[in-house]
Amino acid sequence: MERSPTLYVVAAPSGGGKTSLIAALLDRDPNLSLSVSFTTRPPRPGEVDGRHYRFIDKEQFMARVRDDAFLEYAEVYGHYYGTGRAAVEHELLAGRDVLLDIDWQGAQQIRTTFAACCSVFILPPSLAELRRRLESRGQDSREVIERRMAKARSEIEHWEEFDFVVINDDFQAALADLHAIIRERRPVRTDQAERIAPLLAELLENE
Ligand code: 5GP
Repeated sequence: MERSPTLYVVAAPSGGGKTSLIAALLDRDPNLSLSVSFTTRPPRPGEVDGRHYRFIDKEQFMARVRDDAFLEYAEVYGHYYGTGRAAVEHELLAGRDVLLDIDWQGAQQIRTTFAACCSVFILPPSLAELRRRLESRGQDSREVIERRMAKARSEIEHWEEFDFVVINDDFQAALADLHAIIRERRPVRTDQAERIAPLLAELLENE
């Protein structure tokens, strides 16, 4: 039976290991294409325009908002990010699955327009591990790391809005989980809720 293409949304708190997981997933699955977002954030060293993001200024971004050129957009860490409508629709029409690497605010907007989308939230295995990953990237000052840790908690609070949760403890296991979801879209979230209750209690506890 012919299957219609699916729009996948993957979100995670910063330091959750989302970028490496998505890169590995795309390597494994040739029918999956990643949407390259527009952003007003300046490029980081090594980032290539058109590959990692399409880097535009705020004026260009707002012009696109007015033209309704985004499927969703949001302000994240003080910069605007948006998913271009045309490229995503083109891929879906061509029969390819599309993956959006966006934040929870974008995921909320996508659900209102693409009710059949499949959304996945990637959780770190613990707060200590999240902190260790943020520190080992060596990208951020102590103050930025503290801000990201505080922000992670408010992001994790949205986990229940997602169809699936993947815990990124062991990279290969998390990749296999993500791949299984994309292949089969198995309805496992209800079972998961019970299993991951202790982890969520730790991640969301008041410090
Ligand atoms: P970064 O600046 O570290 O690349 O991304 C910061 C956050 O913005 C990440 O959570 C990323 O998933 C999110 N993001 C990237 N592109 C988009 C987008 O097009 N829309 C939304 N809503 N979030 C995005």
